[in-house]
Amino acid sequence: MKKDKPDTKVVSAGRMSKDHFGAVNTPVYRASTILFPDLASMEPGRQAYTYGRRGTPSSRSLEDAIAQLEGGAQVVLTPSGLNAVTTAILSVIGNGDHLLVTDSVYGPTRHFCDTTLKRLGVETSYYAPTANIAPLLRPNTKAVFCESPGSLTFEVQDIPAIAGAAHAHGASVLMDNTWATPLLFDVHGHGVDLSIQAGTKYLGGHADVNIGTVSANEAHAARLKDTHGNMGLAASGDDCFLALRGLRTLAVRLKRHQETALKLTHWLAGRPEVARVIYPALPSDPGYALWKRDFKGASGLFAFELKPASERQVAALVEGLHHFGIGYSWGGFESLILPSHIHRTAQAFDAKGPLIRIHAGLDDAYDLIADLEQGFARLKGT
Ligand SMILES: *Cc1c(COP(=O)(O)O)cnc(C)c1O
Repeated sequence: MKKDKPDTKVVSAGRMSKDHFGAVNTPVYRASTILFPDLASMEPGRQAYTYGRRGTPSSRSLEDAIAQLEGGAQVVLTPSGLNAVTTAILSVIGNGDHLLVTDSVYGPTRHFCDTTLKRLGVETSYYAPTANIAPLLRPNTKAVFCESPGSLTFEVQDIPAIAGAAHAHGASVLMDNTWATPLLFDVHGHGVDLSIQAGTKYLGGHADVNIGTVSANEAHAARLKDTHGNMGLAASGDDCFLALRGLRTLAVRLKRHQETALKLTHWLAGRPEVARVIYPALPSDPGYALWKRDFKGASGLFAFELKPASERQVAALVEGLHHFGIGYSWGGFESLILPSHIHRTAQAFDAKGPLIRIHAGLDDAYDLIADLEQGFARLKGT
């Protein structure tokens, strides 16, 4: 099983059909109480399933599948992607510690660090996503948090270099890998200790589930499982089922998302209204060399910077689109568009015009391009 290619793993991993009357997909299990046949069975380790919060076949199937894809030692599931982030951080950090976080990090992760972690006596500082972190490590730096590419600005980080510097210092390395998924970036293989996914995005893939996953290497497995258990976390059977069903088509969906994103970004790069396109899979992107070195592909999320334009012009472009919804999140089959607001503290983000983020969904690329073309005509006429 371990030697199977990733595309095979996504269709085969975590299947338990022999336990479910041959049903290909593990059904939804809803359980809190699980009955024991006798008192002896209640001894730890005697029964695979003991209580709903501690796991059902629905959650174990998904955990097993993610573990095979990530190649880690321990996977936990959380009720949202943000909760996967906070659980991973809390499993390595404590009062008096310092945490280094990339300036390109997902906004709610930053907010957690600046509020809850601060209250618990943890100091967070932010580093420029492409900085050499060695001089930023302090005697009490316990962990370094990465997100590559950042989900608004798409800087690609040199993860092996960051991991090398952090580990030489005795600090743990965490990475939010939602953009690439385990199929396009091998997180543990590049030296990261805790690999985080908002399964809400590509894993679920259909815009109908919030779920998160964390995979730990051997050295971080026990702390992760303990922290997750202590906080009483569990993903619902329905959500595990949906995430597992999404996983089965993840490889083919990602290929299509990339293909469409490449068509859109090439087209956008030639538009007179566009100052630059930000997508690591383009040779013109500053992150291209690192992306090429470390990633097996690109997903469907990218941004472009407009030449200076008014708010009304941005609204004229975005609001009349037929095939792009205006909304948070991404990774589903649907195409989305969102003006981005960048908050930075370590290094200012250099943009003269408005930044627009696009998720290339599974629509036909030429319908999407025609839609954007009309959007640019509205922008010009405003
Ligand atoms: C969406 C997202 C999350 C959070 O996932 P939720 O399920 O919405 O909590 C975390 N990290 C990144 C990069 C995301 O895009």
